[in-house]
Amino acid sequence: MNLPSIRLYNTFTRRKEELRPLDDGVVRIYSCGPTVYRYVHIGNLRTFMLPDLLRRSLEYLGYKTEQVMNITDVGHLTDDTFDRGEDKMLVSARLENKSPEQIAAYYTAAFKDDVRKLGIRPADTYPHATDHIPQMIGLIEKLLEKGHAYEVEGTVYYDIASFPAYGRLSRNSTEKLIAGSRGEPDPRKRHPGDFTLWKAAGEHRLQVWPSPWGPGYPGWHIECSAMSMLLLGERFDIHTGGADNVFPHHEAEIAQSEAATGHRVVGTWLHGGLLMLSGARMAKSAGNFLRVTEIEEQGLDPLAFRYLALQAKYRAPLNFSVEGLEGADRALRHLRERVAEWSQNEGAEGLPVRTEWDMRFRDAIAEDLDFPRVMALVAELARSTVAPWTKAALLRDWDRVLGLDLGRTDFNQALPAGAEELIAEREKARAAKDFARSDRLREELKALGVSVVDRSIEK
Ligand code: AMP
Ligand code: ZN
Repeated sequence: MNLPSIRLYNTFTRRKEELRPLDDGVVRIYSCGPTVYRYVHIGNLRTFMLPDLLRRSLEYLGYKTEQVMNITDVGHLTDDTFDRGEDKMLVSARLENKSPEQIAAYYTAAFKDDVRKLGIRPADTYPHATDHIPQMIGLIEKLLEKGHAYEVEGTVYYDIASFPAYGRLSRNSTEKLIAGSRGEPDPRKRHPGDFTLWKAAGEHRLQVWPSPWGPGYPGWHIECSAMSMLLLGERFDIHTGGADNVFPHHEAEIAQSEAATGHRVVGTWLHGGLLMLSGARMAKSAGNFLRVTEIEEQGLDPLAFRYLALQAKYRAPLNFSVEGLEGADRALRHLRERVAEWSQNEGAEGLPVRTEWDMRFRDAIAEDLDFPRVMALVAELARSTVAPWTKAALLRDWDRVLGLDLGRTDFNQALPAGAEELIAEREKARAAKDFARSDRLREELKALGVSVVDRSIEK
């Protein structure tokens, strides 16, 4: 298939590389998802927006995509950098006096609502870690067989010394890893940097499964190796996550998956920059975070956050401020109003102008998802002498990638009772080319005080 080439920055090689999907025209993506012990914040959402922008861009360019995003509902410890602490799910269960299953169900649903508010399309599959324990056990057995893991008193550790490439993704040397391990190292580990694949559990633990090493639960890293390879195969195109996932999570994932299969599994490692608040990383655990619902409560459009995020390079850290968000909200509303205005009268501009602008858009998204360049292009188009109708048509096309709801015409005000039904009726009439009926409905809407702006039927 002759699809346009797209270049992406691969954390593994520290270079921009041309994407070459393993399967012609289909790009398979695994994205690290939320740990469902609390609400997600807009920092997490920035990371989840990355694969959404990636998929929308790829699809705009003619590719098909398949995305798997895991739901972590076991094994993510409070101190994941140093592989210790308590399971976050159990801490929340205790605090909220609920079962871990109730906590997971509640926060998974909240996550899906929040994601929708930001125009992030759902993944094709959301595997839950607790539904894949046998696959994780199978993978751990394989690692033990191949000499990459060892068991001590029912706990299985990954032996990082057995995998020479350990540290390559994050550019961490083994020495640095030792120097970096704080406090008392776990005396059962051969190397302080070894990480847990399976953890023996005490009797009192709520989430516990039988295993060849006794009752216990899986580590956080093994779930992503097991579920990605189960659902996407032992080789797939792109793996996404936040910059804070590079070490230890993705370093460990590479060590596990590659040691088990004997080959490279992920083609491109794509990492999103962190969202910062007052100079520190926005974090659930630190409590310095903002939810998308809080944006709404302030009377701002959640998509203003999307607009804000699009102004920054996806890989760069982004400093969040309420003023910045308010500015984005104003700019977004203004842009929608202009699109509605430009849509009003059909122009007679030739196709070449439209194609020329669209090529520039395609070039920008294909160059490592250069959305700051896209947003500058949007501004340039708005200021240009291009016919208004062409501007509107281009922006509505581009919005398939931007996801900013630029075709919205209802703006701020709520619609009067009955108007929605009339609008829906009118859409149907227009689709059926029953223009007499659609004109009558327009009059009825006018009587309700609603004026409708027609766009010409696209393509
Ligand atoms: P968690 O629910 O803690 O497992 O995090 C879910 C995702 O959000 C992970 O992929 C993290 O990399 C990402 N993440 C966490 N904090 C931030 C932040 N401040 N900015 C951007 N992404 C973040
Ligand atoms: Zn993961």
